[in-house]
Amino acid sequence: MIGAIDQLLERQARSWPRLAKGIRGLAQAQTRRVRIDWFDVFIRHIPHRMSSTTAAVDQESVAKRPCFLCASNLDPEEEGFEFGAGFTIYCNPFPIVEHHLTIVYKEHGMQHIAHQIGNMLDIAASLPGYFVVYNGPECGASAPDHMHFQAGSRKLFPIERDVERANGMIVPNYSRNVFVFRGPNRSVLMDRMDLTIELLANATGKRPEPLINIALFYEREEWVACLFPRGKHRPDVFYRGELTVSPASIDLCGIFVVPFEQDFQRITGDQIAAIFREVTLPDDVFQGVAAKLESAR
Ligand SMILES: [Zn+2]
Repeated sequence: MIGAIDQLLERQARSWPRLAKGIRGLAQAQTRRVRIDWFDVFIRHIPHRMSSTTAAVDQESVAKRPCFLCASNLDPEEEGFEFGAGFTIYCNPFPIVEHHLTIVYKEHGMQHIAHQIGNMLDIAASLPGYFVVYNGPECGASAPDHMHFQAGSRKLFPIERDVERANGMIVPNYSRNVFVFRGPNRSVLMDRMDLTIELLANATGKRPEPLINIALFYEREEWVACLFPRGKHRPDVFYRGELTVSPASIDLCGIFVVPFEQDFQRITGDQIAAIFREVTLPDDVFQGVAAKLESAR
């Protein structure tokens, strides 16, 4: 599997101009590390993420544009290979990290996590050295109308080290609320994550799915799943035009994408911490869900 993906990346970097441009863009990306409290965030200036960061994801705008994940709309040079339960793996032409992949369901249909946790765990188990992420339709997915995951190299993946500090399923003093589940048993993890999503939907009244980002990976025969419940899609600084940032899973995992040079120069660790707190679920609601999860053990 990994060998086939390496070959796909190599082949597509030569044959698909849009991907070649994206890989050059990533190679030129500047990255700056900031220390916040006890953890690091890597701020990454990537101009080619502009359209994803500012994507209009309301229903009307999405309905007007052709879906860029449907097979019939792909670039002629773009190729992928089929994987698991109806998914195809493609190279992401707007990479944030090395080996950035998009894992697309075969049929056009709303981004949703119900009945997909098992597939996500299976994909992660097949991709050693990678993370796999899910962005909810109102939480950073720029194609909310077509079910997909993303994956990428964990060479830079700050949260992997941060979650070592988890106290049970919670990471204390982390400036963002996240549930961490870890273990070798697929069905136990699936049940745990499904229950969390159900409790979040109840607590926030958001149906069919609560606002959510998920990042997970498989290492040493166990999964580590990070589930970020969200309070809102974009921070106020975005709408006020102060900072063009719109955090999704990868940002919450500690690689903070900044498409504009001036934002890259001026954004501070304190601002990032404030944005994390603002877009993840407020403490009181988060603690309420955590208490229910504890008692359901
Ligand atoms: Zn589509």
